[in-house]
Amino acid sequence: MDDFVYEGLSTRVIFGIGKLKTLPSEVSRLGSKALVLCTPEQTEVANEAARILEDLAVGIYDQATMHVPVETARAAQSEAARLGADVYVAIGGGSTTGLGKAIALEFGKPIVCVPTTYAGSEMTPIWGLTEGGVKKTGRDMKVLPRTVIYDPMLTVSLPRMLSATSGMNAIAHSVEALYAQNCNPIISLMAEESIRALAHSLPQVMQEPKNLEARSEALYGAWLAGISLGSVGMALHHKLCHTLGGSFNLPHSEVHTVIIPHATAYNRDAAPEAMQRIAGALGQSDAAEGLYQLELTLGTPMKLSDIGMKQEDLDWAADLASQNPYYNPRPVTRNDIRALLEDAFSGTHPR
Ligand code: NAD
Repeated sequence: MDDFVYEGLSTRVIFGIGKLKTLPSEVSRLGSKALVLCTPEQTEVANEAARILEDLAVGIYDQATMHVPVETARAAQSEAARLGADVYVAIGGGSTTGLGKAIALEFGKPIVCVPTTYAGSEMTPIWGLTEGGVKKTGRDMKVLPRTVIYDPMLTVSLPRMLSATSGMNAIAHSVEALYAQNCNPIISLMAEESIRALAHSLPQVMQEPKNLEARSEALYGAWLAGISLGSVGMALHHKLCHTLGGSFNLPHSEVHTVIIPHATAYNRDAAPEAMQRIAGALGQSDAAEGLYQLELTLGTPMKLSDIGMKQEDLDWAADLASQNPYYNPRPVTRNDIRALLEDAFSGTHPR
């Protein structure tokens, strides 16, 4: 067995159908003046959270948006300061959690997170802020949510296709965790189990979006994927998605969905043990092809050309993604990345 280092991240997790109702008791463990955060599309659920919180809620800030523009972060920080908030309740997907993290980074107060997608940000100490079109990210334990309430009921409204792409986003965290440079046996177990749970539940979610058993299993898989993302380093796939999302403004979960079969194929021969575990969790013989087949079943976008990428930008994307050497099981070369991007652009089977 290889040597390893394992350091557990400490977040209190409450999981179960209807557990949104535990919000007041969970918030009052950490503070007494909660600012509730959401996107403009999710004000209904944020209002419900504020209603349940009664006097514990001091306000709602409903302007969370993708990639946390610095202007939005500053406006939310001012509102939190004005209201004297001492705990931030982020109810929504990665964009809302990201806004909570931007406020916590400034003031160091705790976050209670109520995730409604499968993105996994709630289990990581990773923050992101976008200024002048450039997204900066960093790690800081101040932004790791102190408590996370996973209530599958809140995911029932997640549109079918966003459920599928968000689920593939979670699977992508687990795939890369299995071949991470600093991988360890505990995280590998979680990552493998998360792929199994998501691959099993997502086709059911697509057929029956209100099936709470399937929704629960998908959210459980997403939780484990989030822990994997927060605990070990990511590689080529996340670098590519960061580049494509940041520089070409491609939608977050869709770009993860399109790239993951191809990034997995890229690392196929360099990480055989990880590939075996991924394939096993998918119930397939090949990891990359198994991911591709899962996406065909789900009916997700399969081509970069379908999600806003332009053919003439592929060269520039390959240049950007191969800059600044970083760990990947197979060495990253500009020409190989260009070939991967061509496959992803046209949506061929992973090579
Ligand atoms: P999102 O949070 O942007 O949500 C997408 C849309 O779906 C929003 O309009 C949102 O309001 C809506 N929505 C969310 N849940 C819903 C529900 N249950 N019902 C109906 N509508 C719902 O998307 P996301 O994919 O969760 O997050 C993407 C962002 O998170 C990106 O900016 C990404 O970089 C970041 N992220 C960060 C980390 C990290 O560790 N820091 C991890 C993963 C993602």
